[in-house]
Amino acid sequence: MRIGIPAEVRDGESRVAATPETVKRLAAAKHQVQVQEGAGAQAFFPDAAYRDAGAEIVDAATAFGADIVLKVRAPLDHELPLFTRGAVLAGMLDPFDAEQAARLAAAGLVAFALESAPRTTRAQSLDVLSSQANIAGYRAVLMAAELYPRFLPMLMTAAGTVKAARVVVLGAGVAGLQAIATAKRLGAVIEASDVRPAVKEQIESLGAKFIDVPYETDEEREAAVGVGGYARPMPESWLLRQSLAVHERLKLADIVISTALIPGRAAPTLIQEETVKAMKPGSVIVDLAAGRGTEQPHGRGGNCPLTETDKTVIRYGVQIVGHTNLPATVAADASSLYARNLFDFLKLIIDKDGQLMIDLNDDIVAATLLARDGEVIRNAQRA
Ligand code: NAD
Repeated sequence: MRIGIPAEVRDGESRVAATPETVKRLAAAKHQVQVQEGAGAQAFFPDAAYRDAGAEIVDAATAFGADIVLKVRAPLDHELPLFTRGAVLAGMLDPFDAEQAARLAAAGLVAFALESAPRTTRAQSLDVLSSQANIAGYRAVLMAAELYPRFLPMLMTAAGTVKAARVVVLGAGVAGLQAIATAKRLGAVIEASDVRPAVKEQIESLGAKFIDVPYETDEEREAAVGVGGYARPMPESWLLRQSLAVHERLKLADIVISTALIPGRAAPTLIQEETVKAMKPGSVIVDLAAGRGTEQPHGRGGNCPLTETDKTVIRYGVQIVGHTNLPATVAADASSLYARNLFDFLKLIIDKDGQLMIDLNDDIVAATLLARDGEVIRNAQRA
């Protein structure tokens, strides 16, 4: 097959969908790999490395014209006419963005949104949400540490003792757990909250304290279990008690990393304006749900309504970071992991003779298929 790797052109997107490592493996499987000139430059993969790995360096029209096009993010409107109708597109295509899915379908693409892969053991090696969220959690802590005007570890010096920073992590999925691990390595004291009871043990095993908000009704207990490993919206009664607990913890916090998400819905508001007002001057909130909150149409909100998309603002003396693409700030490793995810995905849709084979009996293929034959595909996740 002819496999194309166009350059990513969205603002701030420095990742690339294939690396010399994956190109080499694709070329070894007798595929013709065409990488757009400069596609890997921002992730520090030069054209020469792709060429050495067996790729041809081509222009955008050639890369987009391939049988299979690998992308990091969904193509922009002006790129859609460059595709061959009926071609395969695989990438992080925002499956819950219905308008975008309709545009990909109208372009005649067989589009696969890798974010929709089930969270199963077999799907682990192509789990793009995990590979990228892991990086976001790590980078969020480093960004907070850079902005925080004090030390993170406890220091005993001749000039006196400095207390360890208190970090609160809200949402302990992949990003949150990595944030805990990273903050721990930097010597902080950490507490974390999540709706799902299963994560208590994971939080504690990383050396953090679980902020316990007990469930009081069967409705709360059932909602908390979530679905497919993901959280579901919690009843208002529990959210209210959680917000009181979070308010008390955040009054004492120095750094907050918030990561709480619910697939296909606006991110829950966990840090109210009143809580920000009560926080210490100089403290930092890194809101990884930025751009996905209830205020999203206004360019604001994440887990905190004061977050501004892709900006760092100071509100009531608190620094609030609303960066929406932290993985792109670790472009080389983010690309390496993402490219391996895509390589493993391709194995599911290319048969042993190197031909395209879309088998909808495969649960991963069926879950990720977003558009085909001009239609957007509805499935259990996007019912
Ligand atoms: P996510 O990005 O969808 O959400 C982040 C976290 O926010 C989740 O832990 C969620 O429970 C939490 N959250 C939602 N509402 C909240 C609230 N009101 N307060 C506090 N926290 C709230 O989740 P994710 O990181 O993609 O991970 C989802 C699950 O999938 C996790 O259990 C993870 O361990 C699991 N997972 C499984 C596999 C696998 O088995 N292959 C791979 C990756 C992840």
